[in-house]
Amino acid sequence: MSAADKSYDVVVIGGGIAGMVAAGRAAQLGKSVLLLERGAEEKYPCNSRWTGGTFHIHYTDPLSSSDKLLHEIETATDGFARKDLAQAVAQDSTRLIQWLKAEGIKMISLSGHQSCILAPPSRTGPGLDWEGRGGDVMLRTLEANLLKRGGTVVRGARATGLDLSKAEAVVIETQRGGKTECFRGANVVIADGGYPADPELIRAHISPHPEKILRRNAGTGTGDGLRMAVAAGAALTGGLDCFYGHLLSRDAMHNNRLWPRPYLDNLVISGIVIDGAGRRLADEGNGAVYMANIVARMNDPLSASIVFDHATWSGPGANSIIPSNPHLPNAGGTLHVARTIAELAVKMGLPPQELEQLVASYNQALDTGTLASLNPPRRTDRHKALPIKTAPFYGVPVCTGITHIMGGITINADSAVLDKNDQPIARLYAAGTATGGLEGGPAIGYLGGLTKSGVTGLRAAEALARR
Ligand SMILES: Cc1cc2nc3c(=O)[nH]c(=O)nc-3n(C[C@H](O)[C@H](O)[C@H](O)COP(=O)(O)OP(=O)(O)OC[C@H]3O[C@@H](n4cnc5c(N)ncnc54)[C@H](O)[C@@H]3O)c2cc1C
Repeated sequence: MSAADKSYDVVVIGGGIAGMVAAGRAAQLGKSVLLLERGAEEKYPCNSRWTGGTFHIHYTDPLSSSDKLLHEIETATDGFARKDLAQAVAQDSTRLIQWLKAEGIKMISLSGHQSCILAPPSRTGPGLDWEGRGGDVMLRTLEANLLKRGGTVVRGARATGLDLSKAEAVVIETQRGGKTECFRGANVVIADGGYPADPELIRAHISPHPEKILRRNAGTGTGDGLRMAVAAGAALTGGLDCFYGHLLSRDAMHNNRLWPRPYLDNLVISGIVIDGAGRRLADEGNGAVYMANIVARMNDPLSASIVFDHATWSGPGANSIIPSNPHLPNAGGTLHVARTIAELAVKMGLPPQELEQLVASYNQALDTGTLASLNPPRRTDRHKALPIKTAPFYGVPVCTGITHIMGGITINADSAVLDKNDQPIARLYAAGTATGGLEGGPAIGYLGGLTKSGVTGLRAAEALARR
């Protein structure tokens, strides 16, 4: 009997971490499971396969107490996160890690927030390195476990429609090998990764220029799940205009060695980020993910640059996972270097006097402790602002890269999809970066995609198994 002839307890759409955890946990709880994955290859691309692999919640150890994690979520999002979801993720973060380890997923532990990194880590150098690395090994292990538990995986099947009108089962329409094929399940979990690679939805929510924004993702999340959920009556969360991503060398738009790493976070939070007229854009002290979002919202997202001095370049610039010093210039990224700020401005095509004045007033505010009165202000409670005084001076033209969108389908703590009255839509669940409600808001509030995706996957399976 083919998969299309059977009806399953649950059909999961998408084989990233959210979908694999949901499918694996449901099968472990005795449910019959079908997982549909649009990628046809054995090692189909997805963000979870390409991930850097660090589980965290806003750069806090995911094994911390639930009180501490809840506090981190509320602080990072300025209270934007749904309370029920925030509590669920804070409460189950440790349980997710334990469950993954019990499934045979290996992790390494480094200092600080990096206690749970998928092994072997993908931190080898600039550019993308995923094969045989943590995310790839995790997905293959979870898939093997699912199959051992009697689950079915159909690859090359892109879900495009849901019919919830039939009492006996939800019908999932897919496009597979140029044909339309339908599958049936008592419950459906949407885990398709949201829309980080969909130009139409990026244009609608983030920037009128999606072509000027780098796809810092696997290119597989094109918003099918969101469209199907909306057609079924689901409400969407706020944060549809916010994303997790980074500022990268502008040359990454055409040079694959410059993405997904090195990203320029340490330069962003230590120096200043300016537009094409030499004006600061926003408060760099809010963090690098925040500034990536700010640049995406510019009229021309390809007109921003970072300016900093030699102390930053040889200090924080040389000190991160794949540091921009030396990887940025070594991988072919533009690095303007000059003995004076005026000379730097000329090299960068900026008005010299404006840049000199900007740097002078920034340095003065730093010296006099008045950074908060700058326009835009500069906070220092999260990241230290560094002076721009020690020659040579540097400028890096940047682009912004989207990894995943923060807003999406509205779910509750059981990962049940909610309608506009906040009521669950029977038989419909969603997990991972297809969902919203946790990250985003005015503070952007980046928390970490892996932990959110794993916990919402786990909870979807447990909730539907309880029904
Ligand atoms: C380079 C990189 C580094 C990262 N580093 C980190 C990190 O260190 N820490 C961290 O927390 N996060 C990190 N992330 C983000 C993290 O990997 C993601 O948030 C997480 O993997 C998302 O999981 P997901 O299951 O929601 O989506 P995905 O992994 O994108 O999986 C979705 C799956 O659904 C499939 N699909 C899409 N549409 C359909 C359809 N219509 N029908 C069937 N299948 C469909 C896709 O092919 C895909 O396989 C990183 C991401 C990248 C790209």
